[in-house]
Amino acid sequence: MSKTKEQQKLQHETAIKIAIDAGVLTRCKTHADGVFTGAVALTEVYTLGNEQYSKGQLEGVFSLRREMLELLEEVIPEYRVEKCPHCVKNSN
Ligand SMILES: [Zn+2]
Repeated sequence: MSKTKEQQKLQHETAIKIAIDAGVLTRCKTHADGVFTGAVALTEVYTLGNEQYSKGQLEGVFSLRREMLELLEEVIPEYRVEKCPHCVKNSN
């Protein structure tokens, strides 16, 4: 079964949310879509992701734990930048 666009989008957004909740990524106070590196070590996101998965909080989003962990691994590096990209752009 292939994933729908909506499902992919939901999974992507959920992965970002887990990373922000864990403190691995930070969301810019000014830009809702400005996401950058947080103060917490990357591994913390796997701890929180596993915890949320075990509690059933990710039900309907990920059908496999491995699927969630792989997506976290794939998505987070894209946002591992020092500052909000929008703020950087505006200050130039
Ligand atoms: Zn910003």
